Amino acid sequence: MLEIIRIPVLSDNYVWLVHEPASKETMVVDPAVAEPVLAEAEKRGWNITQIWNTHWHPDHTGGNAEIKQATGCHIVGPQAEKDRIPTLETLVKEGDLVRLGNVIADVIDVPAHTAGHIAFHFSDEKTVFVGDTLFAMGCGRLFEGTAAQMFDNMRKLSKLPGDTMVYCAHEYTQSNGEYALVAEPDNEALKKRMEAVLAARAKGEATVPTTIALEAATNPFMRAATAEILAERRIAKDAF
Ligand code: ZN
Ligand code: FE
Repeated sequence: MLEIIRIPVLSDNYVWLVHEPASKETMVVDPAVAEPVLAEAEKRGWNITQIWNTHWHPDHTGGNAEIKQATGCHIVGPQAEKDRIPTLETLVKEGDLVRLGNVIADVIDVPAHTAGHIAFHFSDEKTVFVGDTLFAMGCGRLFEGTAAQMFDNMRKLSKLPGDTMVYCAHEYTQSNGEYALVAEPDNEALKKRMEAVLAARAKGEATVPTTIALEAATNPFMRAATAEILAERRIAKDAF
């Protein structure tokens, strides 16, 4: 069983600290910065042994070098972005397996936000780390890819079991939900979810992780019936 800690950093990033108790290994997903991550691990008496990056953006890799220097940890990330992440040591792609102590994640290619973006899926733990590909009621912007690619990503992720916990890298839920209500004004599950989200955000609470089932019911990008609809929604959200 993994223990997963959310560390809010910068304006809206979440860094995930993942501990595997049997082996005492601890891994960090997408450290934007180092200091709060090192502090949280130290507070818990956990030794960081690995960093896993989903994509090259600095708000996902900015803490790599400093955490490596402080802990000697090993850094894993997307093969297709090796030139953009000079700190990478192990390069992975779709279908590769990555081990954290006694648990294993498989790598899923999810290009579109960046050209080599990957997700890490712990199938036995029903847990997936999706970086900036899937958000609560949203998806990543298409900086280096197409709506057709993002549509394929949404199809892949929607095939995971509904109770899979989805750990994304930003607290974008409220603004995503406000757009989602424009895209699907008659979606009752969406309306109900937004009430809960607004209440949580008013109290300063986080709204992630989410689940695949909740996204399948309320996420206008995962629910887009065609790549063309996803494209229209992405353009509309960019301007929202
Ligand atoms: Zn990004
Ligand atoms: Fe990001």
